[in-house]
Amino acid sequence: MKNIYGETIQDLEKYFESIGEKKYKAVQVYEWLYQKRVTDFSQFTNLKGETIERLKADYSLNRITIKKREIDELTEKYLFQLEDNECIEAVLMYHDYGISVCVSSEVGCNMGCAFCESGRRKKVRNLWPHEIVLQILAIEQTINRRISSVVIMGIGEPLDNYDNIIKFINIINHPKGIALGARHITLSTCGLIPKIKELSKLNIQINLAVSLHAPSDELRDKLMPVNKVYSITPLITTLKEYIEITNRRVTIEYVMLNMVNDTPECAKMLANLLKGLNVYVNLIPYNETSHLHFKKSSKERILKFYDVLKKEGINVTIRKEFGSKISAACGQLRSKEVQ
Ligand code: SAH
Repeated sequence: MKNIYGETIQDLEKYFESIGEKKYKAVQVYEWLYQKRVTDFSQFTNLKGETIERLKADYSLNRITIKKREIDELTEKYLFQLEDNECIEAVLMYHDYGISVCVSSEVGCNMGCAFCESGRRKKVRNLWPHEIVLQILAIEQTINRRISSVVIMGIGEPLDNYDNIIKFINIINHPKGIALGARHITLSTCGLIPKIKELSKLNIQINLAVSLHAPSDELRDKLMPVNKVYSITPLITTLKEYIEITNRRVTIEYVMLNMVNDTPECAKMLANLLKGLNVYVNLIPYNETSHLHFKKSSKERILKFYDVLKKEGINVTIRKEFGSKISAACGQLRSKEVQ
């Protein structure tokens, strides 16, 4: 049976038409699900009994289970259990400007980045749209507040689960749904070029973040196997096209690994690569994990790297560190729980 939280408004309109009912019922259903947050079809009181019975027969309203919740000041980490007992994580962060949630897009990940905990476990399956929507609903219900932005930066490579991710974005972006503006949704990718091209044609105003992490193919090949297929030069060309088509600034993510990619020479090379592009670089302090040998760069090395980029006229920020006490870095909570 289909889960109703995975249906876009268009899906529900088609559904109602297929059972001989008016299309506008789709909006009514969305209002019950996302505005009133009612979790029982029987309480959809503006629908007639017969329609409610049909919905009950055709759709489930199953939620995902919170298996664990860890709280550390401004960060909360959630471990969820899915219907097939697989586990995924999401992280909530309180900022001055609101509350953001980082959602997972897949169970496991095939990208195999050398420094990333999530990649230690190969992809088991894609997440369905409802399993991503429900991460948000479960968190909002727990904290009894609405979140203001979503980043698709948890476990998984979102562009490797493209159709489900686009559906998820459509559902949460709809004004009658969770109503998160596209500009409050960020998708982070390791750089799957054909999918970035596809995304550029969709005409949605989401933020795109690209994990670059190295300024040369030699180094990026070692850190991110995906680079052997989609290397730096074509990736940068694709981003240039993306920016021209969408007119949106792209974020370049750069994780700071001690003595690996954090030298001033690397910064200079990175600046040369990005000059003239409408991007900004987000330097990410590495979140160390016990299974991997990488170390985080010192504050001094990060600041030096930052200065070189600034001097070269590149927009750059240093990401605020969140939740290192509660293993909020990608894949860490799941990994503690499972091994
Ligand atoms: N697959 C996507 C999204 C998930 S990873 C991507 O590659 O962008 C989200 C971001 O966290 C990526 O930039 C990733 O490289 C980074 N990351 C992974 N492990 C990390 C760690 N231990 N500390 C800091 N950042 C990490």
